[in-house]
Amino acid sequence: MSLSRSLSGKTAIVTGSNSGIGLGVATELARQGANIVLNSFTDRAEDHALAERIGGEHGVGARYIKADMSVGDDCRALVEKAGGCDILVNNAGIQHVAPVEEFPVEKWNAILAINLSSAFHTSAAALPGMRERGWGRIVNIASAHGLTASPFKSAYVAAKHGIVGLTKTVALETAGQGITCNAICPGYVLTPLVEAQIPDQMKVHNMDRDTVIREVMLLRQPSRQFATVEEIGGTTAFLCSSAAAQITGTTISVDGGWTAL
Ligand code: NAD
Repeated sequence: MSLSRSLSGKTAIVTGSNSGIGLGVATELARQGANIVLNSFTDRAEDHALAERIGGEHGVGARYIKADMSVGDDCRALVEKAGGCDILVNNAGIQHVAPVEEFPVEKWNAILAINLSSAFHTSAAALPGMRERGWGRIVNIASAHGLTASPFKSAYVAAKHGIVGLTKTVALETAGQGITCNAICPGYVLTPLVEAQIPDQMKVHNMDRDTVIREVMLLRQPSRQFATVEEIGGTTAFLCSSAAAQITGTTISVDGGWTAL
């Protein structure tokens, strides 16, 4: 078996994977031979076409299943509809920025539900099958904000610290059972969402693209370089590999040195 097909025969669910990091992770897992289940809360022809394209390009099974990760029953139904999974990547996430006393309650609730509680529900639904098969990988996409804080991001920081705690607990409950649970903590990753912020930041700061990226957006990222979705995909694939069988309950930072400061 070639190294690049080391996940052949495994099924991977990646939540929130019709764009950005989730799509990058799903693509890399498909490249490694895993059958993939893409997900988001929409149900557009292009969502299903995306799954078909990745499946075709990598010669793996690929499906898109609509499920709203803010709804616990939807999270559990996603795993059920997929027929269980060997690899679960909890990636869906949203952000809102406001001072704590002005933070809209509905935004707080949505961020906690999508960025944290969804991983509780999907993990609970996926673990029995992983235990039966004696093999499983849960990878939670946390953030540098799972290890450190920034002002005005109370819900995001709380949810991301929470998912690091959930990661450790699931790891302890599954230790020695062929199952691992880890969190990846990216710094700034160049996704379409982040790309879309660059023109506004250039205008606000009256700077060119490179300067605004280096001096404003990546101020806390010592490398002054974005991480890429391919790098997060590669880190996920490593955590799914046999080399990582004893890596569990921990965080891996992919943040250009942010949390070393
Ligand atoms: P993105 O907006 O491109 O992707 C988010 C994904 O989640 C999308 O596919 C979206 O459709 C999906 N999603 C949102 N709400 C959902 C819901 N209710 N149900 C199902 N799916 C839903 O953003 P991204 O930058 O790729 O972020 C992905 C993850 O990575 C998030 O958890 C985010 O917190 C984390 N992260 C991102 C960065 C970064 O710089 N981009 C850094 C650290 C961590």
